[in-house]
Amino acid sequence: MAWDERAPGGAREFCIETSDERAGGDGVAISADLATCDACLTELFDSADRRYRYPFINCTNCGPRLTIIDATPYDRARTTMAGFPPCDACRREYADPASRRFHAQPNACAACGPRLLAREGSGALDGDALVHAARVLREGGIVAVKGLGGYHLACDGTSDDAVRELRRRKHRDDKPLALMVRELDGAARLCHIDADEETLLSSPARPIVLLRRRAGAKVAHEVAPHSPWLGLMLAYTPLHHLLLAELDGTPLVMTSGNRTDEPIAIDDDDALARLAGIADLFLAHDRPIRTRCDDSVARVIGGRPTVLRRSRGESPRPLVLPFPCRRPLLALGGELKATFALGRGATAILGPHHGDLEDHHAYRAYVDAIAHFERLFAIRPAVLAHDLHPDYASTRYAGERARAEGLEVVAVQHHHAHVAACMAEHGLDEPVIGVALDGGGYGLDRTIWGGEFLVGDYRNFRRAAHLRPVPMPGGERAIREPWRMAVAHLRDAGIDAGNRPEATLRVLCAMIDRRVGSPLTSSMGRLFDAVAAIVGVRDEARHEAQAAMELEWMATDLSEDGAYPCVLAGVDDTLVVDTRPIVGAVHEDHCGGVAAPRIARRFHSTVVDIIDTVCRALRDATGLETVVLTGGVFMNAIVAAEARRRLSDRGFRVRSPAATPTNDGGLSLGQLAIAAAREV
Ligand code: ZN
Ligand code: ZN
Ligand code: FE
Repeated sequence: MAWDERAPGGAREFCIETSDERAGGDGVAISADLATCDACLTELFDSADRRYRYPFINCTNCGPRLTIIDATPYDRARTTMAGFPPCDACRREYADPASRRFHAQPNACAACGPRLLAREGSGALDGDALVHAARVLREGGIVAVKGLGGYHLACDGTSDDAVRELRRRKHRDDKPLALMVRELDGAARLCHIDADEETLLSSPARPIVLLRRRAGAKVAHEVAPHSPWLGLMLAYTPLHHLLLAELDGTPLVMTSGNRTDEPIAIDDDDALARLAGIADLFLAHDRPIRTRCDDSVARVIGGRPTVLRRSRGESPRPLVLPFPCRRPLLALGGELKATFALGRGATAILGPHHGDLEDHHAYRAYVDAIAHFERLFAIRPAVLAHDLHPDYASTRYAGERARAEGLEVVAVQHHHAHVAACMAEHGLDEPVIGVALDGGGYGLDRTIWGGEFLVGDYRNFRRAAHLRPVPMPGGERAIREPWRMAVAHLRDAGIDAGNRPEATLRVLCAMIDRRVGSPLTSSMGRLFDAVAAIVGVRDEARHEAQAAMELEWMATDLSEDGAYPCVLAGVDDTLVVDTRPIVGAVHEDHCGGVAAPRIARRFHSTVVDIIDTVCRALRDATGLETVVLTGGVFMNAIVAAEARRRLSDRGFRVRSPAATPTNDGGLSLGQLAIAAAREV
């Protein structure tokens, strides 16, 4: 906190002075975007109000923020509202301390503000744009809707034909799509919603919330095939409210406006070019979007609201580090679900979600966003922190920029960053037992880690225990084809992989035995894949962690029903969890006719047993009582909730990420904390 003293200026009433541009930047606070407030909603649907049906109504309590701000200090002239000079009525509200719109920078009305526009094919349509959009949606068409942080693609969420067509045009596999409904009532008709979930759904950030689907909910099968969960969000802009009102409560699929893996479109010309082959109609407007921001995603796990993707409505709300950064820092995150983090003093600012940086467009968007955030928050990094993986695009960025600008770099091991992120979120600054379970990250020994128990703090850690490493035949291909992991694990356990075409199997076994193109991995995610493939859930994954998620869905309906053996072996002073007896028992159950849901349930209990057993062994060895549970595997609600409960019962102090993602979206925060700690 900084302040200076001024002599009285002679003002006779309360006023807010015009910002001094030179004073801007340092320590600026920029709000995240806020969902339309109740007061604005009432006006929106009040035929006597001067903003009746005005799609850009907002006030000091709601509306766009981060996504329209071009520079600081935050004044209309430095937002994408600069091109809309306010009319007299709006100007009066802006200047009136008694008005809800006192100093609301994006304040506008139909006379002076942004306008809606419907565009079909090459030309703009006359008449009410909302009526046109609603007609296309009702007829089963696809509409590109310009939102706060980018374009959405919308279609009727009750029509299988419409959703199937959307998937086809977007090149989207069967990965679940999010739905938008107007109000809580509409959400409650589709899903079971408890009090925590209700709070999360209606919070100003309006994340997509994963909710348990009601039997017989009126939703197209194609929205989330075979999933007991639906991702729902409530309308969060006046435009959404008007559009959904026009459709009498029909839930809309609202998915990011892009072709799969590309970044969400924000620029109107770019959207028109990239989405022309997907959308039948564009529902657009003339208020530019400055910052790309996908919807945030959250889930209540074991009674705790947990962010899975921290983006629109959450970024750039600052996080407080347990200690200050001595110099300004930039942490670059991972490769998938990429985020970056800027650090100055004890403040960390996480950028929005940027998806998979392997995609060139996503990478460009990420680089541009870093530059924008550095300017916006006036942070010039002196140190760049990145993942240890040499081939991540974020690692290459760090290297290139460090060379060009003469900056220092800090390489951070992937799972150490996972653990540190959780520690930083909870303000821990002490040695912990860090349980980092995920799909995989580059290890210190150059193998792929992912079933890790680390002991340490921000500065140092030791790999105290891990799953027994097995080959990943075909490397990346083994991630897309879980049956390969099944063969690898079965072979490791000395079991014949059985019913595969002979030739395919021979090739794979040769790869495994000769260790050709088969890096070693201790990944828990890959063990999930192997078990899923053994019990016949699926052989190929069309999107990340698909097999593992389906195994979780299967396991939810059964009560505790035994578990497979958890055997620890010591190698030097490192514990190794032997996966062979587990895989052997899974295989035996499967061959013995035990139903897949029961095996899935037993396997989940086994994972909890492993966490419990290893943590107790490490507590005995080190005296540490604080456990951090992190990594993408903890998006699995059964593992997360049951491990937490078990460890708490054993007297551990348990912490897991809630305000930041437990998956790779949280890595940048962990890298930042580690780099800062090493500076002190
Ligand atoms: Zn409002
Ligand atoms: Zn106006
Ligand atoms: Fe990870």
